[in-house]
Amino acid sequence: MIAKGPIIIAGAGHAGFQLAACLRQEGFPDPIVLINDEGHLPYQRPPLSKAYLKGTGCAESLIFRPSKFYDDQKIELIADRVTSIERNAGQVTLASGSALKYGHLVIATGARNRMLALPNATLDDVRHLRSLDESESLRHKMKVARHAVVIGAGFIGLEFAATARRAGLEVDVVELAERVMSRAVTTEISKFFHERHAAAGVRIHLGVHVNSIAADGTKVTGVSLSDGTSLPADLVVVGVGVLPNVELAAQAGLPTASGIIVDENLLTADQNISAIGDCAIYASQRFGGPLRLESVQNAADQARCVAARLTGKNKIYDALPWFWSDQGPDKQIVGLTSGCDRVAVRGDRAQGSFSIFCYRANELIGIESVNRAGDHMFGRRLLGAGGSISPEQAADMTFDLKGVL
Ligand SMILES: Cc1cc2nc3c(=O)[nH]c(=O)nc-3n(C[C@H](O)[C@H](O)[C@H](O)COP(=O)(O)OP(=O)(O)OC[C@H]3O[C@@H](n4cnc5c(N)ncnc54)[C@H](O)[C@@H]3O)c2cc1C
Repeated sequence: MIAKGPIIIAGAGHAGFQLAACLRQEGFPDPIVLINDEGHLPYQRPPLSKAYLKGTGCAESLIFRPSKFYDDQKIELIADRVTSIERNAGQVTLASGSALKYGHLVIATGARNRMLALPNATLDDVRHLRSLDESESLRHKMKVARHAVVIGAGFIGLEFAATARRAGLEVDVVELAERVMSRAVTTEISKFFHERHAAAGVRIHLGVHVNSIAADGTKVTGVSLSDGTSLPADLVVVGVGVLPNVELAAQAGLPTASGIIVDENLLTADQNISAIGDCAIYASQRFGGPLRLESVQNAADQARCVAARLTGKNKIYDALPWFWSDQGPDKQIVGLTSGCDRVAVRGDRAQGSFSIFCYRANELIGIESVNRAGDHMFGRRLLGAGGSISPEQAADMTFDLKGVL
């Protein structure tokens, strides 16, 4: 059934923008209102910790589309913030005080930085990296800083570390876990990137946490670790993960957990409200349980799925997850590789061009590729079609992957 407009989209990040654009592509005729609480046209986030942070490119290079696109597509882009949802009245209220009626509401509010609960953690020298404004001011800060301490060795912390080191800063990375990117990649990939960062001069401290941030007045001077180490620092970058923005939904009485709970159609408990992207935890048939992902692929594919549903092409969301990172050598991942019990290596690790084929109970569950885009694309097609190859075939460079497809 085709939804009745207007469709209101709360949040104009990857998911919100993609949904508005796809609704028009799918021929949705009624009003579309995209509510954007950032002071920029909707933009892409991945370059914020990569090319943009290096100082190449201007803010305009990050925007999805110029303002003319919204006019042409009759997408009303409102610079405001949704402050509440009145489900009985079928309306949202904005920070400006105005109220807007919806036929269908899509919550695409993303996630926000997790803060450190430490004294001095709010000083100007302590930074986070999620928004364009944060990346912009960080790239200026990097020009004057000498010694950065990065808290958290996840994707964003390590991408920042690689960029800062190349810009000539001393860089220490502090990580609570016993290996870098431990939540997202296999031990083999952690080890490879740890070695790469170390070879570039980044010092990585594992199995420790930050006890305190020292400051002289408002200027950060260093960081003390739980093992007694003191690190000098004039810049601290906190990359300890994000919190999904669930409050709007929770205050409206919609079920939330570590995300806004949606079914396999990405619908909340209210048939007139969907949730997509980083803020949503969906019922994954592929993985047999609730799943919340933080990736561009997930945000964009969920948007496409909801656009199809709202224009009468009902389908469940079951896309194969994939994502990438850039910390020197490109790394791409397809599938979810946590819980793998066997790996096969294809390619040449010493040359920095290899893939880890990850298996659970003899079933291929994902492929982590470093500078092997062909393996990544193979994985997307093979796993997308529910296929598998054996670990022996994966490790055999004479085995023709394309032949399998
Ligand atoms: C620095 C960085 C690098 C990344 N690199 C990669 C990468 O290489 N590959 C990859 O796959 N993923 C990457 N990601 C993750 C990816 O960007 C996110 O998964 C994606 O942005 C999620 O899209 P979203 O629309 O759900 O949320 P967001 O992009 O966070 O957008 C949500 C928007 O909603 C707004 N909002 C929140 N509350 C309200 C409200 N009440 N009213 C109105 N608006 C509201 C927010 O301000 C924000 O603009 C990166 C993320 C960051 C921060």
